[in-house]
Amino acid sequence: MTAADQGNDPEGLESIQSIRVPWEIVNDVHAFLRQSGRRGHEGVGFWVGEPVGTQFEVRAAYIPKQHAGGLDGGCLVLIEGDELFAMNVWLHSHRMTIIAQLHSHPAAAYHSDTDEDFPVMTREGGLSIVIPDYAASEFSLGAAVVYRMRPDAQWQKLSALEAATLIDITEE
Ligand SMILES: [Zn+2]
Repeated sequence: MTAADQGNDPEGLESIQSIRVPWEIVNDVHAFLRQSGRRGHEGVGFWVGEPVGTQFEVRAAYIPKQHAGGLDGGCLVLIEGDELFAMNVWLHSHRMTIIAQLHSHPAAAYHSDTDEDFPVMTREGGLSIVIPDYAASEFSLGAAVVYRMRPDAQWQKLSALEAATLIDITEE
């Protein structure tokens, strides 16, 4: 998947310094990942919304149709091309963009080779968040691993402090 698949406005997300995301949306994605885990699958979901200056307001959780792959025991969630297209149409019509891709792992949270090479989130400044243990525990930023895409298209792992500074989970 390439940046062209996103189909959103071309403005980068690298200037975003704060991401506000309501707990309700955090929990929506997390509950889906946990549900997938109970069936023995990894899952993927997205935080979507809009940039307002240097802040990003997350307005919705987007859960695409998906199925588990897992060729060699590696982590893999497949989203078909037509579903990616449907997601981009939805985002475009709602004037939203993806700020974070979240996916679960059976055990440890890290970026696998697959995650490095085939992210849906491919925009500079966007996040990839990996949730350990099939999301069995309540969401906690401290337990997740957060990566941010650098201008050179490489993923940079954020420290716990950097992640907590960037992501503001709100009550509303
Ligand atoms: Zn993975």
